[in-house]
Amino acid sequence: MPNPVIMVVDDDPAVLNAVERDIRAKFGRDFRVVKASSGAAAVGFLEQLQLRNEIVALFLTDQRMPQMTGIQFLEQARPLFPEAKRVLLTAYADTEVAISSINKLLLDYYLMKPWDPPEDHLYPILMELLEDWRAGARPPFEGLRVAGTLWSPQSHEVKDFLARHQVAYQWLDVDKDAKARALVEAQQSGELRLPVVFFPDGSMLVDPQIRDLAEKTGFKTKASLPFYDLVIIGAGPAGLAAAVYAASNGIKCLVIEKQAPGGQAGNSPKIDNYLGFPSGISGMDLARRAVTQAQRFGTEIISTQAAKAVRVQDSYRVTVLADDTEVSSRAVLIATGAKFRRLEVPGVEDFIGAGVYYGAAYTEAINYKDQPVFVVGGANSAGQGAMYLSRFASKVTQLIRRPTGPTMSRYLIDAELANPKIEHMLHTEIVEIHGKPGNITEVVVRDNQTDEKRTLPASAIFVFIGALPQSDVVKDLVMLDPNGFILTGTDLMKEGKPPKGWPLDRDPVILETSVPGIFAAGDVRLGTAHRVASATGEGGIAVGAIEGYLSAQ
Ligand SMILES: Cc1cc2nc3c(=O)[nH]c(=O)nc-3n(C[C@H](O)[C@H](O)[C@H](O)COP(=O)(O)OP(=O)(O)OC[C@H]3O[C@@H](n4cnc5c(N)ncnc54)[C@H](O)[C@@H]3O)c2cc1C
Repeated sequence: MPNPVIMVVDDDPAVLNAVERDIRAKFGRDFRVVKASSGAAAVGFLEQLQLRNEIVALFLTDQRMPQMTGIQFLEQARPLFPEAKRVLLTAYADTEVAISSINKLLLDYYLMKPWDPPEDHLYPILMELLEDWRAGARPPFEGLRVAGTLWSPQSHEVKDFLARHQVAYQWLDVDKDAKARALVEAQQSGELRLPVVFFPDGSMLVDPQIRDLAEKTGFKTKASLPFYDLVIIGAGPAGLAAAVYAASNGIKCLVIEKQAPGGQAGNSPKIDNYLGFPSGISGMDLARRAVTQAQRFGTEIISTQAAKAVRVQDSYRVTVLADDTEVSSRAVLIATGAKFRRLEVPGVEDFIGAGVYYGAAYTEAINYKDQPVFVVGGANSAGQGAMYLSRFASKVTQLIRRPTGPTMSRYLIDAELANPKIEHMLHTEIVEIHGKPGNITEVVVRDNQTDEKRTLPASAIFVFIGALPQSDVVKDLVMLDPNGFILTGTDLMKEGKPPKGWPLDRDPVILETSVPGIFAAGDVRLGTAHRVASATGEGGIAVGAIEGYLSAQ
């Protein structure tokens, strides 16, 4: 395959040559750097690249060009190479255009001219963008392939696992692709057991257990040691942040994750309000970076392995895993987060993973191209889901049960209002789903103020409602509030006294539960802010408290 392309567009020959020279010097080994002196010339060039099945990794274009501005060029380039990163070169006067283009999802970054020295102002930014691009890029395919059907929850589970672990795969829908069906049937003597995962080495897994798939794709599912300083349960933002801080301070730690690292944030196509990422970052990218960072410091992470209980044995905390193996540690951090509430509609269970998805907009959106879809929920997660789905679906109807409208951040409300494909329906709920699993045709919605019902065309429903704490693993061990959130620190104190049974002379410290040495952080904890930033912040704070606990032992 030829190297992926970086395209530079500028009408000023001196600037064009200078940018091209700088970019070629740094990235020329791994990318083909091409230049165009106008938007129109660049578009013509892109069409040729498409014909030759080449891929573009990044566009860097000047904004001020006669005939076609940089933003206009990016608008034309986007459908041709939607995955390519888009960077605008601007003068100070154009920053407003650039910022509004970030909000319209047209732009990944804007760079102010001049960019000298490139080592400081150009390369770090492009390196980061190209790394992100690489993580999500789907080059013309030679790797892993998954054959299945859209209606199958098992196929959804396999796709979700691969997407969450950043494993690129090609999806073969046997209902739509005769060649794919023939391939599966040929391997199974005419049978059709699905999904089938084909590996580049010629082997395959039929309807695999997720653990087997994890092992086959090279992910760790078992702890390598019997004992650690710290066991962290849950690899969402809180658990991963704690792992980075703990491991960087020399604490030997194991992270146990029942699905894939990233947690709820991993379902987010774009987190816009996390510090340091002015054009947003997808939850999967954030997780990938966090995992790399934690592993760099020596953290061990196992996935597809749930913790099912924790018990206290003298000064040790023992975590029992789903496969009944046990891991001991001196301290445990519960960072098990929360999950979406279930949609309460008769018969919905039959459609889960086959037309009704919890979160999962990122994995499934592409399958609903040019079809009408519904989003249920009015908070930020639902807004992000709706925005992402609108890139594919013909229409996105967002149902919000409350009469007062969405509770999303202002930037998301503005982005949705400016998006002609998104419609809000307030005080409205789904009461019936029509069709078959994998082939939803309609939903019946009810206005909960007037009781009026309407039947509307729908192909899929993406649910983003409420957060239920995932505290089962310690429900018989530590104190919870009536909703299942874990109590920590001062929330445990009653009239200045620690809870009944508290064995130490000191009070529980910040983020410590009612059992010494067991801490909690993030969405599973009572009083958290249900944000990525608060989860990562609490992960860091918990490590401070855990260090104090470990050194006092
Ligand atoms: C779609 C979506 C979009 C969002 N967008 C934003 C946003 O833009 N900005 C923002 O600030 N916040 C956003 N949020 C909220 C944010 O993602 C959460 O507040 C944050 O992820 C909480 O982090 P956490 O680590 O506490 O828990 P989680 O992210 O819930 O992670 C917990 C992890 O623990 C694992 N786990 C649970 N039980 C066990 C067990 N028994 N054994 C092993 N592992 C277990 C889970 O599989 C999960 O991976 C969004 C949430 C969603 C769902």
